Amino acid sequence: MTTPSLERDGFMLTTCRDLLGTIQGSSLWYLSFGLACCAVEMMHAAGARYDMDRFGMVPRATPRQADLMIVAGTLTNKMAPAMRRIYDQMAEPRYVLSMGSCANGGGYYHYSYSVVRGCDRIVPVDVYVPGCPPTAEALLYGLMRLQEKIRRNETASRRSLLDRCP
Ligand code: SF4
Repeated sequence: MTTPSLERDGFMLTTCRDLLGTIQGSSLWYLSFGLACCAVEMMHAAGARYDMDRFGMVPRATPRQADLMIVAGTLTNKMAPAMRRIYDQMAEPRYVLSMGSCANGGGYYHYSYSVVRGCDRIVPVDVYVPGCPPTAEALLYGLMRLQEKIRRNETASRRSLLDRCP
C-alpha cells in the first residue's frame, strides 16, 4: 500500500499535531534580543540579502506577539532578570535560539564576574548556533533546524503543551 500524496491523489493524511507543528514552524515571529555584537549579524540575516521574511520569520518589538526569542550577544547578570521577565511574557508555545559563543556559554567573558555563562541558565534553549559571531548563514541554518524541531514536536515548549492536552 502506498501513502497518499497530495500531488498524485489530491489529498493527504496527517494528524492535528503534525499540522499545527507545520503551521507554527512556518510562521515564526521573533523577538530580537540583541545584546551585543552578534546582533549585527542577526540584523544582517533580516536584511535584503538573506531575507528571513521568506521563511515566515518577521521581527516583533513586543514579547506578546513573538514566538521566538533570538538571544544575540553577551548576557550579563544585570540583564538576566529582564530577559526572564520578557520570556515569561511570551505566549506558549515559545522558543529560544541562542546565538553565538557568549549566549551559548559566556564566550570571551566566560570567567567574568558580570556575565552569565550561557543563557540556558535563565531560559530553556531549543537551538544553539556556534560562532563569534555566527554568520548570517549559520543563523539561518539554526532557524531551519528549529523549524524542523517544531514540526516534529521536539521542542521543550511544544512537548509540555502537548502533554497538557487531553
Ligand atoms: Fe560579540 Fe563574539 Fe560574543 Fe557574539 S559571541 S556577542 S560576536 S564577543
